[in-house]
Amino acid sequence: MTQMLPLNDGRHIPQLGFGLWQVPAATTAETTATALNLGYRLVDGAAIYGNEAGQGEGIRRSGLPREQVFVTTKVWNSEQGFDKTLRAAEASLKRLGLTHVDLLLIHWPCPRKDLYLDTWRALIRLREEGRATSIGVSNFQEPQLTRLIGETGVTPVLNQVEINPRLQQPALRAFHAKHGIVTQSWTPLGQGKSFETAPVQAAVRRTGKSPAQVILRWHLQIGAAVIPRSTREAGLRENLNLFDFALTEAEMAAIATLDEGQRCGPDPARFEMD
Ligand code: NAD
Repeated sequence: MTQMLPLNDGRHIPQLGFGLWQVPAATTAETTATALNLGYRLVDGAAIYGNEAGQGEGIRRSGLPREQVFVTTKVWNSEQGFDKTLRAAEASLKRLGLTHVDLLLIHWPCPRKDLYLDTWRALIRLREEGRATSIGVSNFQEPQLTRLIGETGVTPVLNQVEINPRLQQPALRAFHAKHGIVTQSWTPLGQGKSFETAPVQAAVRRTGKSPAQVILRWHLQIGAAVIPRSTREAGLRENLNLFDFALTEAEMAAIATLDEGQRCGPDPARFEMD
């Protein structure tokens, strides 16, 4: 149902998935199983979301074969460093009830801690051991990506970063494209702050789609992978229904003008929370 993007390690990732941030632990299994049964094939989780057990349970409850579901989790800031990361990944796998994840990410670079290089070396080890099929990062900026690649020769397959119409990150996306790194957009709907803008509303009127669908389609057409979150079945269904229309070049250009460099989330250059 959803398109696949190639990764630089020979694997592929569904371009569209769903995210589990702030999904209550008690209902995560149900949300995950519902989403997978609607047609999603990628579940984005993280140790810090506190719902990895439900993420794993939902995958089992969906009845889908394990190999049809792309599972992501992330190493939290407090677990950075080589040995700690190895232990944190094992703990995540145990909570998920899985032998491996499809993608393991460093959640934030935490530049002042300066442990992301050792953490990356642990991810390389975990990939060699088959505990993570692919490895990548989240919230990394160009200098940190350059350092990882330069020091280890291993390029992350993906960088999951905040992208929405008000924060389009064109320079970072160009760097990703040059290095074969997939851009994956978090908070893709940007807290609804561009839903009422003229370019989005014009596309809504022409296509008959919702503002959320127009914006998610914009992500797909800039070549990004995207992981919207909804706990409502109708919302999950709406966010999956993106493949029967396209934005015109003029509509894409109009949405490009909405970039204000305004973040919804923290600035990754300064975010070090444990
Ligand atoms: P999102 O842009 O997906 O928006 C979620 C909000 O929009 C919710 O309030 C939801 O109810 C609402 N919504 C969803 N579908 C809608 C629709 N069709 N119409 C109107 N409103 C709708 O934001 P997010 O959850 O912040 O980000 C998505 C995922 O990205 C997260 O769940 C998580 O997996 C990931 N994420 C990662 C990081 C990171 O640091 N790597 C940070 C934040 C989020």
